[in-house]
Amino acid sequence: MSERPRIVVLGGGPAGAGAALFLAERGFAVDLLERGPSVGGNAGSFDLAGFRVDFGSHRLHPRADPAILDRLRGLLGGDLLTRPRHGRIRLLGRWIHFPLRPVDLALRSPRSFALGAALDAARKALRGTGRPAGDEETFASVLEAGLGPTICRAFYFPYARKIWGLAPAEISAEQARRRVSASSVGAILRRLLPFAGDSREAGLKKVFHYPRRGFGQITEALAEAAVAAGAGLHLGAEVRGLERRPEGGWEVVAATADGERRWSADRVFSTVPARVLVETLRPAAPAEVLAAARGLESRAMVLVYLVVGRPRYTEYDAHYFPGEDVPLTRLSEPRNYSGVAEPEGRTVLCAELPCALGDEVWSAGGDELARRIAGALQSSGLPAPEPLVEVEVRRLPHAYPIYRRGFEERFARVDGWLAGREGLLSFGRQGLFAHDNTHHTLVMARSAVECLRDNGGFDHEEWARRRRAFEEHVVED
Ligand SMILES: Cc1cc2nc3c(=O)[nH]c(=O)nc-3n(C[C@H](O)[C@H](O)[C@H](O)COP(=O)(O)OP(=O)(O)OC[C@H]3O[C@@H](n4cnc5c(N)ncnc54)[C@H](O)[C@@H]3O)c2cc1C
Repeated sequence: MSERPRIVVLGGGPAGAGAALFLAERGFAVDLLERGPSVGGNAGSFDLAGFRVDFGSHRLHPRADPAILDRLRGLLGGDLLTRPRHGRIRLLGRWIHFPLRPVDLALRSPRSFALGAALDAARKALRGTGRPAGDEETFASVLEAGLGPTICRAFYFPYARKIWGLAPAEISAEQARRRVSASSVGAILRRLLPFAGDSREAGLKKVFHYPRRGFGQITEALAEAAVAAGAGLHLGAEVRGLERRPEGGWEVVAATADGERRWSADRVFSTVPARVLVETLRPAAPAEVLAAARGLESRAMVLVYLVVGRPRYTEYDAHYFPGEDVPLTRLSEPRNYSGVAEPEGRTVLCAELPCALGDEVWSAGGDELARRIAGALQSSGLPAPEPLVEVEVRRLPHAYPIYRRGFEERFARVDGWLAGREGLLSFGRQGLFAHDNTHHTLVMARSAVECLRDNGGFDHEEWARRRRAFEEHVVED
């Protein structure tokens, strides 16, 4: 290896941009390759009607690793705002404050729901879970055992069908562990009631951090700092091939506007989807690894932005729709995230519609989607999004990993095979097929760089230890 090991980082989302910065700061020669026209990935932002808008509702959660939070504060300075959370969730035909507050929940949720949930909890305390031993656990069985049928049927099950497109019993139990931060009534109460648990936890739920110029400002700041520290940033570079060099290291082949370009690397850090990575590797992966990689499914998402000619739509940052009666899962109003009142006289709404790549929702036109959303909002008691000035649609092919039962074996096969490719590391939300938040992927990036030795060697044992710690990440909404 040369004096200064050369690392090529694939993917310019937060994980890739963070890794490029941490590597450049340690003096490695770094190139960051991103196929899009800007950095940010799913956590990026773009300009619309004078606003900076995100790819769906994004917040930086105060529960983030303190060192990561400090680093971002250092990069963003006064642009990193702390804002109160002010959302609402549609539960059985009623609007309830979200994140949930005990008083609001008690007063505003339907009495039958509160009574049902209390009875389920009492039954559980008396009888235990009652789950027959030996049954394979699923998302449905884990949540039903922990929370009882009332909460599951009113909230988690319809939401799961909508967000992942699968029946709850078809979803792996792992999903309940990673995505549902409180999977028993006791855990929910501990999170809601300061006197029943950790009051710091309750406080953290009430606020979020948000950059003045949109969530994408986080990755933009990371990439800018990486370039300032010496990294090369290559936008519009879509990685198509990763060829093992006979002398060791990798040749990275990317399609760019100027044709094919190649980068030589002593080591590759990849944050692109694991499936994409496996498909680009040469020599090619064995057929069973390719099949397992292709079996790692992602849920896609269509984002519909409605520019409305009024100063504000509602006072809420986001409305959550767990029910299957409406097609969207969430509606956010970017103006209410930063609290920045410019431009005046209009606002933008962003509706999130989970779907499958190429299905009817994915292929629908903007006007048709806007019509459906307007109907859904009004049927939920919200104002008509009028006057409608402009409609913009963005499509995310890899919004959420789908944890269909059995995905664990497929991922393990891919992961095991990738682990045997010397000089190649896959991480980030797409690389580890994890539901993780942005701050989690930054922890992954920092860990990857910390496992790298100054001479370009890699501490695999330490990485394995860090990987086990990533499994404890719990996703925040
Ligand atoms: C609707 C929605 C809401 C979310 N809300 C929040 C939130 O409130 N808070 C939070 O912390 N997180 C949130 N997240 C999660 C957050 O978006 C991710 O944690 C974050 O984007 C992960 O960063 P990453 O770099 O690992 O992956 P990504 O952001 O997916 O980045 C991967 C990058 O790889 C690039 N790429 C792919 N293929 C290639 C190729 N062949 N060549 C070159 N580049 C390639 C992509 O263009 C992309 O830029 C949300 C996600 C979604 C979908």
